[in-house]
Amino acid sequence: MPIQILPPQLANQIAAGEVVERPASVVKELIENSLDAGATRIHIEIDKGGAKRIAIRDNGCGIDKEQLSLALARHATSKIASLDDLEAIMSLGFRGEALASISSVSRLTLTSRPETQQEAWQAYAEGREMNVSLKPAAHPCGSTLEVLDLFYNTPARRKFLRTEKTEFAHIDEVIRRIALARFDVEFVLIHNGKTVRHYRVANNEKQKQQRLTAICGANFVSQAVHIDWQHDGLGIEGWVVSPDYAQNASETQYCYVNGRMMRDKLINHAIRQAYQEHIGQQQTPAYVLFLTVDPHQVDVNVHPAKHEVRFHQSRLVHDFIYQGIASALTPGETDLTLEERQ
Ligand code: ADP
Ligand code: MG
Repeated sequence: MPIQILPPQLANQIAAGEVVERPASVVKELIENSLDAGATRIHIEIDKGGAKRIAIRDNGCGIDKEQLSLALARHATSKIASLDDLEAIMSLGFRGEALASISSVSRLTLTSRPETQQEAWQAYAEGREMNVSLKPAAHPCGSTLEVLDLFYNTPARRKFLRTEKTEFAHIDEVIRRIALARFDVEFVLIHNGKTVRHYRVANNEKQKQQRLTAICGANFVSQAVHIDWQHDGLGIEGWVVSPDYAQNASETQYCYVNGRMMRDKLINHAIRQAYQEHIGQQQTPAYVLFLTVDPHQVDVNVHPAKHEVRFHQSRLVHDFIYQGIASALTPGETDLTLEERQ
């Protein structure tokens, strides 16, 4: 076969293999876009575990009519313009691939209205060349992304979808993770026409406790110790369970770096080490931790799904996390600052 450039839809479908694993990955990408657009209210409607329909409506900044087809194009983003921007990234997105990927393996429509426009417009991409057609629509300020029949044109992937219940459980989990990181945003989750979650905006301590309880359970909340450390431009905030905590809520293991949910080996290691030394081998850590790091000090462009990071000064970050948690787990020392304990 001679060398040839792949048609756009095929190239996008191949890229989709990396980011669109299942309905929950679509939900994650779309909610992250809504958050990057400054939304304070996000409605998520799911039909049949997301395989049939995913519709996400936000009250974010919206997209200009002239930019709608660009939003669906590959490598098109409003979030970075240079490598410098990428190295100081604070938005959740930057690859400009999610909408192109998702629309290549589903029937995706994007309806949007920025505040500056009187009317809304709707974009739909189809065919091998992914040509975008536009038509006027009715929509309040903000955007709605609707994804129908995920993987309808990629049967090999569709075959890997699990039961409706399982796929929905993954979606529910994605939303819990995001809702934990954004107390300032309201989330409504509807499955097959029924509202199953409603996380209201949490402004004060009481409301924050309510959301934390709704997501992590009363058991976790009643035993969790608050942690809040700042040192040398690093910060760690959140909750870890106290040494005498029972093991039964060990699924509560959430860790964020600059607002992004992470599964990071280095962080896990620091947490485990602190726990092992302070509460013994047999207990499983339970925690919700938000790490803040100068964005210049982390590389988020490690994996297409963006759930891994690389720290420039990994030893420093490791020790910082270890010390922060160790101090929270050691009774009587929780009031000391990091410096005082050294
Ligand atoms: P990325 O998020 O990496 O920029 P995406 O493919 O997810 O790439 O989105 C492409 C672009 O479309 C974004 O950069 C943004 O400008 C726009 N966009 C996507 N979703 C929304 C939304 N809900 N509200 C406003 N703009 C959006
Ligand atoms: Mg995105």
